[in-house]
Amino acid sequence: MTMKTTGLGSRCIVFSFDDIEDASPTNVLAIIGTKHVFLCDTYLGPDVMALVRSEIRQKYSKNPWIIFNSHADWDHHWGNSFFRDSTIIGHELTRKAIDANGARELQMYSRYQRGSVEIMPPNEIFQGRIRFPNEGIEFFHSPGHTADSSSCYDSIDKVLFTGDNVEDPIPCLTESDLDTYVKTLDAYLELDIEHVVVGHGTIIATKGLIEENLAYLVSLQHGTTKMQDSPRWRANHEQNVKLL
Ligand SMILES: [Zn+2]
Repeated sequence: MTMKTTGLGSRCIVFSFDDIEDASPTNVLAIIGTKHVFLCDTYLGPDVMALVRSEIRQKYSKNPWIIFNSHADWDHHWGNSFFRDSTIIGHELTRKAIDANGARELQMYSRYQRGSVEIMPPNEIFQGRIRFPNEGIEFFHSPGHTADSSSCYDSIDKVLFTGDNVEDPIPCLTESDLDTYVKTLDAYLELDIEHVVVGHGTIIATKGLIEENLAYLVSLQHGTTKMQDSPRWRANHEQNVKLL
């Protein structure tokens, strides 16, 4: 396992990991608040989160953690148990989905676990949004990639963490509800954004990637998608078409 660390804005750190073969790296975002350290997603298990914690503790902050899960897919919450005594925030649908599928997914993909994973759904749930106004942080429901998908917005550094809703070059559908997905990306574009941190990928993106993802989804809605040469684009697109 390799961990790459990238500083962003005045108080954000992106941790990137590449343990899953044939997939883009997975990103975890830490935001150093005045009273808390916020951590978006916990990746593949306690061993990885131990590395993240020691990096944060040594270099940035000793504040208590607030953990956030962007959605219930296994590659985003397996490290929750490392923070069992902390607040772990997630949408109520995320909690439901982890309760329903977590154990089965752990069995299916157990070869990827880093440390001994114990499935632990969020212990603090929200529906629409949950705000930390003194910290300039907000978590909000943003259904798209999955019905439970949620995002984090840091209004101080103008950083948006999208989970798997935004992807380079195009998003991966797991639901056929394109209208809802389009609404979510439209709503992202209303925000004042300087950096976009995506769930998977090597790039720190900008608003432009959201616009491109949105244009692609709209083209799917209208059946006007223009084929592209990139093999990755085609592979994702074929999967999306199959799902629809
Ligand atoms: Zn993912």
